[in-house]
Amino acid sequence: MREAMFYKKLNGKVQCLLCPRHCIIPEGKRGFCWNRENINGKLYAVGYGKVCSLAIDPIEKKPLYHFYPGSSVLSLAIGGCNFRCLHCQNWEVSQTPPDKLVYREMSPEEVINLALYHKVPGLSYTYTEPTVYYEFMYDCSVLAKKYGLFNTMVTNGYIEKEPLKALPVDAMNIDIKGNEKFYREVCKAELSPVLETCKLAKKLGIWVEITNLIVPRYNDNLDDILFIIDFVKSLGRETPLHFTRFHPDYKLLDVPPTPIEVLEKARKLAIEEGLKYVYVGNVPGHEGENTYCPNCKALLIERSLFGIKIVDLDLESKRCLVCGEKIDIIC
Ligand code: SF4
Ligand code: SF4
Repeated sequence: MREAMFYKKLNGKVQCLLCPRHCIIPEGKRGFCWNRENINGKLYAVGYGKVCSLAIDPIEKKPLYHFYPGSSVLSLAIGGCNFRCLHCQNWEVSQTPPDKLVYREMSPEEVINLALYHKVPGLSYTYTEPTVYYEFMYDCSVLAKKYGLFNTMVTNGYIEKEPLKALPVDAMNIDIKGNEKFYREVCKAELSPVLETCKLAKKLGIWVEITNLIVPRYNDNLDDILFIIDFVKSLGRETPLHFTRFHPDYKLLDVPPTPIEVLEKARKLAIEEGLKYVYVGNVPGHEGENTYCPNCKALLIERSLFGIKIVDLDLESKRCLVCGEKIDIIC
């Protein structure tokens, strides 16, 4: 356990300032995410080091398609989340307090040693919501940088500005889940802080990719899709956008999977609106998983089940081999 960062004391209670919920937590109680507990008037990160998921994944699985393509990352999670999404695909770990799961107690040094042992170039804080285990992510991230490793975060974007500014994160995949109504009814959260996080992350020079999971009947109409496209465009046309396929899960078992045509239509619209890199996700083998040159449409990176093949792309100059267009890729 470690004392939490980003909180203030309020006459025995404490107020957590890590995410926009700003939970006021009485003595002996935890915040909404189950990760932060008021013990004798101090806030503690009770999930610190309690790693419930640990794996080496292709970076494409995050998804991050333009950041060290083809690399593997040491991925980890600690239980809990600051959202309550009805469709959560990782609900077993995201909707359970960190100490109620089977976990492996790890120090940041052990995490970094494991990454070095497996010779991966970086780490990914993922599966649940990494913001809620901020202190462990922060300590691992700082140490990772000392060893020349990169840090990536797969997040719902519900984090306050100061913690985000302090975190040495190199790339983020941020979910934009839908409109205000979707956030309130499906996630028990608010939309605007997520949009603020996306803007700040870009301003900080973090590589950002956006994911929008299209859930039939909930966020699949044209207005919802146009809203996402317009916002991503405002972040910069080079920002990759992933429209991913919903599969029934958790409390939305009665909702069918997203028809593939809906994802294709959204992708086509986003490209017509000027976004350079738009993907279809969770549809293995779909051509919408590939990267094409935004200028001449040449196939640059072919993807299949998280495997990749570099085709007409020169990774050194980051240019299309057919027309010479500069491609937005970090490696
Ligand atoms: S991080 Fe957790 S405790 Fe802190 S404000 Fe958010 S939900 Fe509440
Ligand atoms: S934000 Fe992500 S991890 Fe948290 S409940 Fe929603 S889908 Fe699950």
